[in-house]
Amino acid sequence: MKKRSFAYAATWAFIASAFMSLAQPASAQQTKPGIERMYVLYCGDIALNDASSFTPGASGPGALTVTCYLIKHARGWVLFDTGVGDHIIDMPNGQKSRAGVWSVKKTLQSQLAELGLKPSEINYVALSHSHGDHVGNLNLFPQSTLVVQKAEYEWKPPLGVSPFKPGMKAITPDGDHDLFNDRSVVMIATHGHSPGHQNLLVRLPKTGAVMLTGDSVHTKANWDGGRVPKRNFNVPQSLAALERMRAVLKEAKAQLWIGHETSEVPLRKYAPAYYD
Ligand SMILES: [Zn+2]
Repeated sequence: MKKRSFAYAATWAFIASAFMSLAQPASAQQTKPGIERMYVLYCGDIALNDASSFTPGASGPGALTVTCYLIKHARGWVLFDTGVGDHIIDMPNGQKSRAGVWSVKKTLQSQLAELGLKPSEINYVALSHSHGDHVGNLNLFPQSTLVVQKAEYEWKPPLGVSPFKPGMKAITPDGDHDLFNDRSVVMIATHGHSPGHQNLLVRLPKTGAVMLTGDSVHTKANWDGGRVPKRNFNVPQSLAALERMRAVLKEAKAQLWIGHETSEVPLRKYAPAYYD
């Protein structure tokens, strides 16, 4: 019996390590990561009529920032999220959305141009999910390969239409996905805010590991309080995603960067500065 229970334990240890492996730091045997740097891009502002629509317990009007991230890897450029649409810069009063007003002070395209990049040079567009403040500039990247969770890619939103056009090149993982197979750019499945939401875990050479949230967490208050908006697609799944994130952050010794949190704006270096 003793031998048998050891075999069971060993099997479970093997299974557990296989599940945890994506979140663990690269080991010496693995190929050297080709990641070089990451730029933080300003991708719009959202004025909320009612802060509690995203932060339960808050009161009065609120604000969210919108952040995109651009990663330079030896095997290509990766953009994570595309923000609210660049065309909004021409609307003096911004664009009304269900929860408030979207505005743009500086376009995504101009920020890429400042780095000497044309949209056609972006190899991969990874999306946290398909909501408008994350896919607003997707039309700039018809040549890029999409990286979107299968559940998000196949979702037919009850209001509006899917932003994914047939014929676009797409990688549609069902769960975590290591984009370059070197653990430097890893999609972490955090379904719940939308059917196939994903975070991005980035391992930078000097900065270390950083987890980018998309809308798995909207604000620091939600993260600290373990709360999610009632409007989320699936609230229990969103709460489970928070727990998953806490485990991955611990395992990967990663920082959490909340893309919509306005109080984090002064803490970040924005492009053309970068993190390496
Ligand atoms: Zn959002």
